[in-house]
Amino acid sequence: MDRRWMKAYRLSVEYDNGVTEFLQFAEKNLPNTEGLFPCPCVSCGNRDPKLSKEKIRGHLVSVGICQNYTQWIWHGETMMPSVSQREEGSVDMDDRLEDMIRNVGEESFKKAHVYDNLRKDKEQPLYPGCTKFSWLSIVLRLFNLKTKNGME
Ligand SMILES: [Zn+2]
Repeated sequence: MDRRWMKAYRLSVEYDNGVTEFLQFAEKNLPNTEGLFPCPCVSCGNRDPKLSKEKIRGHLVSVGICQNYTQWIWHGETMMPSVSQREEGSVDMDDRLEDMIRNVGEESFKKAHVYDNLRKDKEQPLYPGCTKFSWLSIVLRLFNLKTKNGME
């Protein structure tokens, strides 16, 4: 998906269309949220409270979207691992997590992961909004590992 709009001028048509696309994405991928979603603007940083699409649109236009929120994981997007993220971190951790995923099964892990984070988001609203979370790099590493080993 083309996300160059995130860096576009906030009053531009491109940005506006991008926001629409984003909100549609959230709605489609987070179907059971009663119309309320984490707001990825610079000020909310996907923390609580969750907002309506109209409110989020307002924030994204007036405050701007977090520039590093390029993988919409808080809005139902599956993470795409990259090589550079594989390089950091310890091998031991990878191995342990790999076993864990084997035991749980990838599908249910993905599900548990997403729901767990949504739940955590509610309980622990203190994640720094725009920074990368450590669990994120762990999961990225994990999925990368899976790809590398050809596990399906
Ligand atoms: Zn906001």
